[in-house]
Amino acid sequence: MNTKLDPWGSVNIEDYSKLFDEFGILPFDDLYPEISDPHMYMRRKVIFGHRSYDLITDAMKNRTPFSVMSGFMPSGKVHLGGKMVMDEIIWHQQMGGDAFVGIADREAHAVRGMSWEKCREIGINEYILSLIALGFEPEGHIYFQSKSENVKDLTFELGVKANFSELSAIYGFSGETNIAHMISAVTQSADILQPQLSDFGGPKPTVIPVGADQDPHIRLTRGLAHKMNMFRIEGRVDSDGGKYLSVRGKSAPEGALEEVAGRAPGDTKLFEAHVDVFGTDDFVALLDVVRQVELEFGGYAFVPPAATYHRFMSGLQGGKMSSSIPESYIALTDDPKEAAKKVKRAKTGGRVTLEEQKKLGGEPDKCSVYELLLFHLVDDDDELAEIYSECVNGKRLCGSCKSLAAERMSGFLTEHQELRELARDRLDEYGL
Ligand code: SF4
Repeated sequence: MNTKLDPWGSVNIEDYSKLFDEFGILPFDDLYPEISDPHMYMRRKVIFGHRSYDLITDAMKNRTPFSVMSGFMPSGKVHLGGKMVMDEIIWHQQMGGDAFVGIADREAHAVRGMSWEKCREIGINEYILSLIALGFEPEGHIYFQSKSENVKDLTFELGVKANFSELSAIYGFSGETNIAHMISAVTQSADILQPQLSDFGGPKPTVIPVGADQDPHIRLTRGLAHKMNMFRIEGRVDSDGGKYLSVRGKSAPEGALEEVAGRAPGDTKLFEAHVDVFGTDDFVALLDVVRQVELEFGGYAFVPPAATYHRFMSGLQGGKMSSSIPESYIALTDDPKEAAKKVKRAKTGGRVTLEEQKKLGGEPDKCSVYELLLFHLVDDDDELAEIYSECVNGKRLCGSCKSLAAERMSGFLTEHQELRELARDRLDEYGL
């Protein structure tokens, strides 16, 4: 395994396809045709991978309940990378998902040493105002981890199933890692699973839109969701080659397996710690029964969370975006004129001389200005395709792209910041 994914460190992923082999993330291309009105990031392959997103495409198609959830650590300015996640949450909300946004103040306190007051101030003034300004509707849920009893209680319950070896294998924690940091990792899992609590309608598919560096949280939570559940269904083959399903429930409370045996489709045979089910291959019907029984016996019946993974934008100067280098990123609260100047100073994929540019064409795939257009500033796919084609064919010069991007960035930020001020008066609609 060569690629290191660290949610709290810096990440430089050179080849996204490695994540398919190394971490079991699946290519998004396979599911793309299932989505009737895909988000811009899906159309442009910015979202490149997923886990279990088929559950979400099914829910969107069948209009059955699903949730979308993501969190923001309130430790600095909200920038265009955060906007990407917000855009994806809002899109899923518009597609019918019950939307949750957690402000990870426990994480900021444990990992960055931020005071609770500062966490609240940054959470509201940076993240929440922008989220509302971008279109998050009040039917959704915005909360601070430290104020959510649901999340705190669930963290404790999940902590029963999470041990140090597992956290250390996933996150690289050592003996020096403070306990609150470990608790904050489990708190992220509670954030992710909260939409499935009975307060919010019980088990349902939930998608977490993230950058690839956040995959450790997804892996931990999927594992914990399985461990929390009372039952596991396995496909088995008997000695004559006949297939059957088996519901394993070693830690199920007394009477629960009997209940599954009584309600399962097909013929059942009850054993001490499992029920074998013959004469049916209807996994979904059996899963429904198992989940229903689990809920009746006080369990959670969690659906392991789905995730989408997006590519990162690079820094404006090339290389990585870094919160300690303001020139490398544009914050949603940057002065629009200053932001336009940053765009004009950004690294392009242009050639050294005008002659070369005309002869060889530019390199939009290595150009941070083109990235701004692709990720944020050009809605129309045809317009973007034209810019790309003019660039590679040497018909476009970097000055015109920079002017276009600077003008649109300044216009976007001016409007966004006006909407942020209006959002300030609407906080009570969101229970804040
Ligand atoms: Fe980038 Fe535009 Fe220059 Fe091409 S012409 S390298 S897209 S700035």
